[in-house]
Amino acid sequence: MKILKKGPGWNIEWACTGKGNGGGGCESLLLIEEGDLYVTANTDMHGDTTHYTTFKCINCGCETDIPNNQIPQRVQTKISNAYRRKNRRD
Ligand SMILES: [Zn+2]
Repeated sequence: MKILKKGPGWNIEWACTGKGNGGGGCESLLLIEEGDLYVTANTDMHGDTTHYTTFKCINCGCETDIPNNQIPQRVQTKISNAYRRKNRRD
């Protein structure tokens, strides 16, 4: 996949690496938009939960985490709201 022209709104170019999700990404360079992102959570042995911002590659299906400091606050708030709604429904 190659970007010819970036669309409107926030987006970021990021490679599919599988980072934070066991690796094994296909190395495709993807254009990630806010609708592609979702929140994942990991609870460690002490019961502390850490949240990650994650996308799933359209090429190989591998999940990759994007560091939260790469995501604008507005986008972080939006996807974390969606995550909470999902939790309540479940
Ligand atoms: Zn991939």
